[in-house]
Amino acid sequence: MTTEETIALFDKYVIANYSRLRRVIVKGQGSYCFDAEGNKILDMFPGWAVSGIGHCHPKVVAAVQKQAGELLHVDNTFYTEQQGLLAKLLSERAFGGKSFFCNSGAEANEAALKLARLSTSSEKYKFITAEGSFHGRTFAAVTATAQPKYHEGFLPLVPGFVYVPFNDIKALESAFTDEVAAVMVEPIQGEGGINVAQKEYLQAIRQLCDEKGAVMILDEVQTGMGRTGKWFAYQHFDVEPDIMTLAKALGGGVAIGAMMAREELAAKLVPGKHASTFGGNCLACAAGVAVIEAIEEDNLLENAVEMGQYANEKLNELKQKHFIIDHVRGIGLMIGIQLKGPGAQIVQKCLDKGLRINCTHDSVLRMMPGMIVTKEQIDQAVDIIDSVLTESGK
Ligand SMILES: *Cc1c(COP(=O)(O)O)cnc(C)c1O
Repeated sequence: MTTEETIALFDKYVIANYSRLRRVIVKGQGSYCFDAEGNKILDMFPGWAVSGIGHCHPKVVAAVQKQAGELLHVDNTFYTEQQGLLAKLLSERAFGGKSFFCNSGAEANEAALKLARLSTSSEKYKFITAEGSFHGRTFAAVTATAQPKYHEGFLPLVPGFVYVPFNDIKALESAFTDEVAAVMVEPIQGEGGINVAQKEYLQAIRQLCDEKGAVMILDEVQTGMGRTGKWFAYQHFDVEPDIMTLAKALGGGVAIGAMMAREELAAKLVPGKHASTFGGNCLACAAGVAVIEAIEEDNLLENAVEMGQYANEKLNELKQKHFIIDHVRGIGLMIGIQLKGPGAQIVQKCLDKGLRINCTHDSVLRMMPGMIVTKEQIDQAVDIIDSVLTESGK
């Protein structure tokens, strides 16, 4: 099919709830993807962080192929080795605890919020979340998402949510009544524009939750699985959550989400309280195991640290040349370039030159390359951004 033919199918049969770039992608390999017209694209935003170790990592592909030949799916009435093994590997790299598996970030957050209500006393029903957050699109997850643009048209939302400005300890303290069941934040806000939490902020959440008997939930759907140079972003902040949610990069391109909880909380989720038909499916879990093994065997955490530093230096050099760049922020390979104006046009022009990046919050260019990214690829990306900014007179 030609690009035009595929797009015609979408126009006729697919609900148009996404604004899409007019390219049909047919193949992915490491930091590159290829469109139906044979163009090679340097992908510095593979799968919105889903392809965390790049497109089609050979170890993940091999694990999926092997698993597909043995057993695609069996329901949670039975046990599978793959689900048990993935839960073990996650527990050992996080704060201990146990996993519940689902299929997406929003679902993982739903599970976390339900468990927080279930595991605290009955007068505790409120959830505190932060302005600029993004937690997904199901009713509770979108209610948790403290950005009015995501709420328009869907009122009334789920009751019990309270919003506070991000990184504001005073606001947190005054919102923290005895009815609060949980605080949920991202250690680095992704959709909100790569806003890094202050260490003192996360530690204040930890302390207040302990004092008040509330649950600390960290949404690591975007930050987790090594992108920041540590397995989980909270590990940069000397603090441990009670519950953590994962999805995006967990399956290396296969749909999977997880909610991890400390043992005492996990024990409350008994049969009948929560479930997911596809959750923990052996194909997805085999992919998750392969992702963790690949990150360790190929030293990708170290690479994320090094390449993150390198990209930061290169982008700061670019800042000296282009007044439109205000500053660069982020940790590891979670990179935000704060512009002094809108970024959508820049993203489009980069794509025309074979580079895929993203723009969030109108004026933040976002790059989240696969953890297999190389210096040469970063150089190439920076060169393209440089030439686009030069040609646009910025
Ligand atoms: C993407 C994202 C979600 C939602 O994940 P879905 O898989 O789209 O439901 C939740 N939280 C954060 C931080 C995310 O980046």
